[in-house]
Parts: sequence; structure tokens; C-alpha cells
Amino acid sequence: MEKRVVIALGGNAILQPKQEPNYETQLENVRKSCEVLAKLVEEGYQLIISHGNGPQVGNLLRQNEEAKEVVPQMPLDVLTAETQGFIGYMIQQSLKNELNKLGINKEVITLATRVEVSKDDEKFKDPSKPIGAFYTEEEALILKEEKGWLLKEDSGRGFRRVVASPKPIGILEKEVIKKLVDDDVIVIAGGGGGIPVIREENGTYSGIESVIDKDLSSCKLAEEINADIFMILTDVDNAYINYGKPEQKSIEKIQVSELMNYIEEGHFAKGSMGPKIEAALQFAKTGGKSHICSLFQARQSLKGESGTIISK
Ligand code: ADP
Ligand code: MG
Repeated sequence: MEKRVVIALGGNAILQPKQEPNYETQLENVRKSCEVLAKLVEEGYQLIISHGNGPQVGNLLRQNEEAKEVVPQMPLDVLTAETQGFIGYMIQQSLKNELNKLGINKEVITLATRVEVSKDDEKFKDPSKPIGAFYTEEEALILKEEKGWLLKEDSGRGFRRVVASPKPIGILEKEVIKKLVDDDVIVIAGGGGGIPVIREENGTYSGIESVIDKDLSSCKLAEEINADIFMILTDVDNAYINYGKPEQKSIEKIQVSELMNYIEEGHFAKGSMGPKIEAALQFAKTGGKSHICSLFQARQSLKGESGTIISK
């Protein structure tokens, strides 16, 4: 039996800090990432790929904001769906090309993936994730009036729209993802944390403007399709204790209980390593193995030779 691996690609796999976010640069980054992923397929792993979309959805939002007098602005759930499409397409095409070079003939497909969140999620009461452009106070008042947005002052730089980041409850497309994986298809799903939707009282679903953390929703995906391994690929080789301090130390193989102590001691930053550790821990508790490492260490890590590996 092939091992099922859910891979969460970090922002770096698509665009590195300070790079210009043009199409060619992003495609070249994705191509390099897919070289690594194709090797994993060659080694016999069954991949389900998810990815971040922070910079991309931010830019799309800006495009929408700048051009709003010409073309009406789209809601945030739609923008996430758009980024799933375009990033998915880049991965799909690049991975297919890299697999062909290795003589591997497997299908690759991108899936618009909805992730259910709760209308009653506490986070909706106090949206706090700043996104998009900066506005003056007067502009902020108008936007609040016209669109019902919530805008907050962001560290002295102006007013910004804030949205909630609710907890993922479930992946609505999980059954079709399972079928495709059983059929040996490589699936790209849950990009950008998934399209956030809520279930209405009459049983229908509708989109809700918010942003779901991609590490938490990838973990949900891994749980729901019974993956063996959940792998978060980011821009550091390991999770560290005392990160950035002289006594910094990499975490290698670790068990859930020990990692929980480190969490309590506050070693993992809130908006970056924190959610990765939380997601990795959650998956490990269900009995699977979680890896946190850099893209280029992925193979070594799957052999148990590098990265942070968390087990029950
Ligand atoms: P991604 O785009 O891959 O999701 P993030 O930038 O959100 O990545 O998170 C990775 C970053 O987390 C690292 O580049 C590092 O600067 C930061 N970080 C914070 N705390 C830690 C820690 N304890 N160990 C490792 N990295 C940490
Ligand atoms: Mg990042």
C-alpha cells in the first residue's frame, strides 16, 4: 500500500518575500516545488496537495479595490476560489510536466474546495485579521456604510478591513477527494485554507467573507481522508525552541506530550509557527505522523532523517 501524504505548501513555495509577484516568478517557484513533489511520487507516495494564498489573495483584493469603479468588487470567498483556481493550475501543469520527465503517467486535478465553518464561531464576534489596502478614516467610514465592512486602525498605518479567521469544521468535498485518491489521482485541494462556507438553517450552504488558516484546514483534510502523514512544508528546516535566541534548538523527533509542554512555554509565534504546531499536533493525536520541514528537505524527512517529526 502506498502511503497517503497530505502536503501543505507554504507561501514560499509560490512566492518568496521581496520577489515581484508577477506570473513568471510565481510559476518558476511552483515549478521548482513540483520537481520535489514529483520525486516523492516517484518514491511511491500518494500526494494530496494544499497550499497557502496569502500574498495572492491580498493582491487580488487590491486589484478589486483599485478597479472597483470599473468592475464591481467580488466578495472574499470568491477571491479565495479564484486563487485556488490559478495557483492550482500552476501546480497542476508544473507537476504534470515534472512527472512526464520522470516517465510517470498520473492524473493531476485541482478541486475548488469548500470548507465549512460555524456561523457561531467565536471569531466572527471579534474579526481581527487585517487584509487588503490601507484607507483613511473618512474612506473607512464610507466603506463601512456602503459594504458593511469592519475596519480597524492598523498599527498607526491607517485603516484596514478586518475579517474573522474561523476554525475549519469539515471539508465538504472530502468524499470526492477520497474517490480520486483511491483512483490514484493526485489531488490539489483546500488551497488558501479552503473557501469558507456556512450551513444555513434550511440546509443550503453559502459563502462567508473570512479567511481560514491553511495549516488548520490541511490538517482537517488529512484527518478526513485518512492520510498516513501530514506534512507542512515551509521556509525553515525545523520548528525550534527558543527560536531566534542564542540558545535556539531544533526539534527533531518528538511526541505529542513533550510538544505540548513546549507550546505551554510559548515557543511558537502566533501568526506563523503557532498554527503549524497546533495543526501538526492535532493530526498526531489521531495516530498519524506530522512533519514540519522545508520544501527541499521533504524527502529526507519522509525517511525520518530530517525536519520536525511529531507522533503520538
Ligand atoms: P508559511 O508561509 O510556510 O505558512 P510562515 O511564515 O507562516 O510560513 O511560518 C514560518 C515562519 O515561522 C518561519 O519563517 C519563522 O520565521 C517563524 N517562526 C516563528 N516561531 C518559530 C519557531 N519556534 N520555530 C521555527 N520557526 C518559527
Ligand atoms: Mg510565510
